[in-house]
Amino acid sequence: MTNIAFIGLGNMGGPMAANLVKAGHSVRGFDLEAVSRGAAAEGGVTIGASNTEIVADADVVVTMLPAGRHVIAVLDEILGTARQGSLIIDSSTIDFDNARRAHAMAKQRGFHFLDAPVSGGTGGARAGTLTFMCGGDDAAFAAARPLLENMGKRIVHCGGAGAGQAAKICNNMILGATMIATCEAFVLGEKLGLAPQALFDVVSTSSGQSWSTTAYCPVPGPVPAAPSNNGYKPGFASALMLKDLRLSQEAASSVGATTAMGALATQIYAMHNAWGEGGADFSGIIHLIRGKEK
Ligand code: NAD
Repeated sequence: MTNIAFIGLGNMGGPMAANLVKAGHSVRGFDLEAVSRGAAAEGGVTIGASNTEIVADADVVVTMLPAGRHVIAVLDEILGTARQGSLIIDSSTIDFDNARRAHAMAKQRGFHFLDAPVSGGTGGARAGTLTFMCGGDDAAFAAARPLLENMGKRIVHCGGAGAGQAAKICNNMILGATMIATCEAFVLGEKLGLAPQALFDVVSTSSGQSWSTTAYCPVPGPVPAAPSNNGYKPGFASALMLKDLRLSQEAASSVGATTAMGALATQIYAMHNAWGEGGADFSGIIHLIRGKEK
């Protein structure tokens, strides 16, 4: 059993913390929002009075926060009271520069730190089947791994500081671009009189195949578990896809990488969000491409 402090008990953090409780750990949590604190308490998390209070006795601190600025602010808040030498795991999706900054801040004060963003969405968080993409030294990864296994099914050590965030934004840049390309093909097929199931049967076993078709087909029918069969409820919200694509573009410009497809995907998801669909699943971008009412 490990004493864990969990900061950020929202849509992802709440169920992740509950899985740590289920695995037998002592988990104290805090969130600024009363509704998140309440939901996590129902999952067995002991709610503390503040971030600083819950970290004082923790061997491991997990953060699951909206963006880089929140992670830096929380580190500023807790590094003075957290137990010296403890391990901090940040599972938020944040920008590469702040991920590196977080590592440096923690290391300078004598803490171990791992960036460990996830994929798998809220369903994966509840089911404990997330993929963790980890960046940090071998000792931090080895210490974190058993806990991450309580919340996920694939744990990948991607490299040093920031490598987890780098892997996450590269993966999601591919995902955003392939989803748009997949939607364009299904809409073109419709206009050419092709049944979606026929196109699925070909693409899912041919060279146009990708996860966007086989696991997450954006037209209703071929993949029963896909959000397209559930009114395009997320799943993975278009607003979060836009966030990750923007992170990819910030990172690309900071290192001078050419990401023309990623840049275009960012603009198309920005249009989808401006259309009022940020809360819909990202595969709902097919409606924008079709040019018809949602
Ligand atoms: P969320 O907004 O539901 O949860 C974030 C929580 O952090 C909120 O409850 C908020 O009150 C809390 N918070 C903010 N500042 C705080 C502070 N200073 N102290 C304590 N709590 C604070 O977001 P989420 O959907 O749980 O996502 C969390 C992270 O995971 C994000 O970085 C997101 O990009 C990433 N992510 C989300 C999904 C998804 O499907 N939701 C999938 C993969 C990755």
